[in-house]
Amino acid sequence: MSRVTRGREFLHTPGPTNIPDRILRAMHQPALDFTAPPFVEMTRTCFEDLKPIFQTTGPVFMYAANGHGAWEAALSNTLSPGDHLLVPETGNFSMKWGMMAESLGLVIEHLPGDWRHGIDPDAVEGHLRDDDEGRIKAVLMIHVDTASGIVSDVPAVRRAIDNANHGALFMVDTIASLATVEFRMDEWGVDVSLAASQKGLMCPPGIGFTACSEKALHATQSARLPRNYWDWRERMTDAQYIRFCGTAPIHMLYGLREALDMLAEEGLPAIIARHDRLASAIRAAVEVWCDGDGGGGMAFNALVPDERSNSITAIRVPPGFDAEEVRTVARERYQVAMGGGLEQLKGDVFRIGHMGDLNEPMVLGALAGIEAALQTLHVPHGRGGVAAAIDYLVAQG
Ligand SMILES: *Cc1c(COP(=O)(O)O)cnc(C)c1O
Repeated sequence: MSRVTRGREFLHTPGPTNIPDRILRAMHQPALDFTAPPFVEMTRTCFEDLKPIFQTTGPVFMYAANGHGAWEAALSNTLSPGDHLLVPETGNFSMKWGMMAESLGLVIEHLPGDWRHGIDPDAVEGHLRDDDEGRIKAVLMIHVDTASGIVSDVPAVRRAIDNANHGALFMVDTIASLATVEFRMDEWGVDVSLAASQKGLMCPPGIGFTACSEKALHATQSARLPRNYWDWRERMTDAQYIRFCGTAPIHMLYGLREALDMLAEEGLPAIIARHDRLASAIRAAVEVWCDGDGGGGMAFNALVPDERSNSITAIRVPPGFDAEEVRTVARERYQVAMGGGLEQLKGDVFRIGHMGDLNEPMVLGALAGIEAALQTLHVPHGRGGVAAAIDYLVAQG
């Protein structure tokens, strides 16, 4: 017998994230001639206003695509068949981007990782120093690896590339960090960064973004990977039909316009501070689940506290317990939807997404639902995680 449920399900998947009502309403529009001047003008402001979100003065490209599309755009615009790439392993997303690159005819050099630590800049530097003949053309890094919950240090990886005096392009996947965690594309010397609409940007899935530096634009002139839809060169125009390589994603753009207004109203520093505050409250709860009275065996997936991201928290259940069951009970009985473990973490971790349109009671409510699920399933955990999260928030003033 299926149960009727009321109220909203709390969405804590690490993408998609909650879509604010304002954005939903902004998208509720009739179709229109997307080449009409007011809409073209609105589109232009979207392209412009994305730049401060990436903290860049360079061009940003939009695709009717998800994050995987942006991955392919970044690679195919800048590289040639047989080029080598350095891919430090931080979790499933670094692996998957690397596998995509391989399928496009690129050669991957992995820096192996255990999915519980961020990127080691010394290892990056050492590997690049050994590349005397410059076969490595790009370093691919995931800023926040959504599979492991780990945030890596972008400026430190940039310094590693510079210390090795290496000319590789620096590509950073900011899909789970843009408008969530501090990211400064130009200041941090990033050549290509990419994002998707359904995470920190609070929109439905449907737009992929790439932002690129002068150096990346230069590289695109000699890059020989086949590309057409993704081609930056074609898209560097104000012609509405050409810059989207076809029909513009009209309703997504209405939503994005509203999202950019909302981001501007709150301001990036306040947005980043809010994500830090809410993520810290979640970590306060998880710490009690792991180490409090009655706890035993639950653990943060990220072993180093500074590498626990403000976008998503991955939590390991004690051996012998199934994280997928926690997830199912949390969703079906307590109306809290979370992410599960991907690939080698399947069954071992559940993941609380905390990006985008969230506030204190939403986070406390989600934590309460998850704690109830742990109790329902008799998963050993310290009692009082929610109380610890409240204590944290109260102490913040
Ligand atoms: C969500 C995510 C992706 C994949 O994005 P899709 O829109 O699902 O293709 C890639 N990288 C990171 C870091 C992500 O969080």
